[in-house]
Amino acid sequence: MVLLKSTREIELMRVANSIVAEILDAMCQKVAPGVTTLELDGLGLEMCRKYKVAPAFKGYRGFPFALCASVNEQVVHGFPSKRPLVEGDILSMDFGVLHKGFYGDAAVTVAVGRVDEKIARLLEVTRESLYAGIEMARLGNRLSDVGHAVQAVVEKAGFSVVRKFVGHGIGKSLHEEPQIPNYGDPGKGIRLKAGMTLAIEPMVNMGGHEVDILEDGWTAVTRDRSLSAHFEHTIAITPNGPDILSQRGGRQ
Ligand code: MG
Repeated sequence: MVLLKSTREIELMRVANSIVAEILDAMCQKVAPGVTTLELDGLGLEMCRKYKVAPAFKGYRGFPFALCASVNEQVVHGFPSKRPLVEGDILSMDFGVLHKGFYGDAAVTVAVGRVDEKIARLLEVTRESLYAGIEMARLGNRLSDVGHAVQAVVEKAGFSVVRKFVGHGIGKSLHEEPQIPNYGDPGKGIRLKAGMTLAIEPMVNMGGHEVDILEDGWTAVTRDRSLSAHFEHTIAITPNGPDILSQRGGRQ
């Protein structure tokens, strides 16, 4: 069942999600050659204490860290590590918090120092595909219109959309119905309604769409070891269109 949220609940989710946005922003500013993703995880924990929120991923189904840090061919759910980032890496950071009973969840991929043009394009296209999906999250549209819009942007650029992982409803649980694939034909699935809160999160590979899970049971990597990018926003569907809750500065 897809749970609809009241205006009050959406405002609580805006707070949770804008805290996520600020934490991700602080991490982005810290990313540089020589920095470790374990340090970024530490920054996330420190900021959770400052904002008096709980890190949503730490302990979730046994995930051992607050931050999902996925480098290069890692798609999602990478473990923060002591390996220093090097110039030319790309790093996906996915972070979530729990605040007053509601979850926030967002992700961003950044380049470490300079990367070549095709890699920069992968990041740009993935981000664009997220906004194309969000744009379709409107009253009266159907769920698959979102994923169809994502897929169209990605494939036009010559990249591929990961099938194995999908976006999701979010609220009092980190993962609620519906599941939101980032691909598919338009006009299918449930009709979108005001009060739905969705985490839309395209994962885009430079090569093929297939992924494997490493022996740690979590880290997803591209099967062909091509690079992968991931962007995510939590949004609310309102009568006036999609409202991006995980935008920086969303809190008064
Ligand atoms: Mg998510």
